[in-house]
Amino acid sequence: MALKVGPAYAGPMSFIVTSLDTAVADEMRTASLDPYGNDLHAETQTKPGNPCRHCLRRAKEGERLVLFSYSPFDARNPYKEVGPVFVHADGCPRYAKNDRLPEDFSNRPIVLRGYDAEQRIAEVSVVVDGSTERRVEELLADPGIEFVHARSFTHGCYLFRVDRTVSP
Ligand SMILES: [Zn+2]
Repeated sequence: MALKVGPAYAGPMSFIVTSLDTAVADEMRTASLDPYGNDLHAETQTKPGNPCRHCLRRAKEGERLVLFSYSPFDARNPYKEVGPVFVHADGCPRYAKNDRLPEDFSNRPIVLRGYDAEQRIAEVSVVVDGSTERRVEELLADPGIEFVHARSFTHGCYLFRVDRTVSP
């Protein structure tokens, strides 16, 4: 399958991947309710696959996850979505390879949403051919796009955020 290369693409650029803030993850591991009033409790995974938004790794069978409602936006507008996300219940290191896409997500179908400075959806890219890194770079090469959200291909849930690295 040929890679789609948009006219704005001007070669590799650097980006920074941001996972869920550790303070938020820690709060959801210990609180009884999430900010939207949902009960919180750890669930032992009976099959692998659910993605932790803090370490950006898919849980293995037997690991415990907490599910809660989360909105990855700070601007109030009609695009501000709230949705379900998981974190490891028993702690995990925050994703640290910030200049690379997480391995558990980079080579499988994914949805990339480019947002403008007002946190409105400017462009969406559905990636099914493993070209996620290139598509992230293409979206971030567009000056009308401020940041990118990665979302689950099948469930639509928020996964992580990608910003362009500011050049010195
Ligand atoms: Zn984790």
